[in-house]
Amino acid sequence: MDRNELISTLQDEGNLKHSFSAEDIAVLAHHMSIKSFDDNAILMHKDEPADCMAFLISGRVQIIEDERQIAILTTGDCFGESMFSEEATRVASVQALEATKVGLFSIDDFHALLETNQRLALQFREIFKAVGRARAEQHAAETYTDKRKYLALIAHNNMKESLMEFCSMHTNKLEQFPLIATGTTGSMLFKKTGLCLSRKVASGPLGGDQAVGTLISTQNIIGVIFFRDPLSSHPHHADIEALGRLCDVYQVPFATNPQSGEAILDYLLSGKADHDPLPNRVLEAYVKGQKKVVEAG
Ligand code: PGA
Repeated sequence: MDRNELISTLQDEGNLKHSFSAEDIAVLAHHMSIKSFDDNAILMHKDEPADCMAFLISGRVQIIEDERQIAILTTGDCFGESMFSEEATRVASVQALEATKVGLFSIDDFHALLETNQRLALQFREIFKAVGRARAEQHAAETYTDKRKYLALIAHNNMKESLMEFCSMHTNKLEQFPLIATGTTGSMLFKKTGLCLSRKVASGPLGGDQAVGTLISTQNIIGVIFFRDPLSSHPHHADIEALGRLCDVYQVPFATNPQSGEAILDYLLSGKADHDPLPNRVLEAYVKGQKKVVEAG
């Protein structure tokens, strides 16, 4: 009964049917063993030797890496294709989200198939090698980490001319940093000064200031030069406040006018910023406190 269920699942659902005939799928299914898991059971552990792959007959599983859910798989889906990778170690863990039944295809099953049906075994291996490569590429793209340290340039509308003058005066210095700017400021910078950005975010009132704030939290900002207009009110006042607050949290130099902007440039170019700054007591105390919250929980 279970075997018939496995065969019909593989023939009707998932991706095997795109590459193999119904007869081939039946042969593959006969080389698999069927196993059931309870809700929450761990089916595979990251970093363990990858000695089998699995096809979901029923239930649901989640793929977890570094406490992060990468995917949820359902009937017909497969996992564990890292069995055919060079390293042959598990790249993620797999946990059942409900009672789950799978068809397991181990390295030994593969070798048995190789003996009796070489064509099918080799075709199977090639396909799942390709699946593994595609998943690895997708995963690398999703988890790409930008390691650059940007200098952020932002100006309110009434201060844009002032920032352009400032940047024209200091082009030689500014060119030494990867630059990031909010939408309108960035477009004007290129037009008026020829300075090229390495990264651009949305216009300030549309989330650009928050996007720079996010990059502060990931240690991607070494300084912020934000010529604020002190004589007008702004609809995104809260975002501007938040950006300044994050600069204080992470001790990022924050200049709001041409003179302090010049001081930041000289400070960054002096190399002093590369030496350890004064300990960030606020951040240290917070991190310690939160660790206790997690431990207590
Ligand atoms: P902008 O945004 O560069 O898109 O004008 C600046 C701001 O007002 O925060």
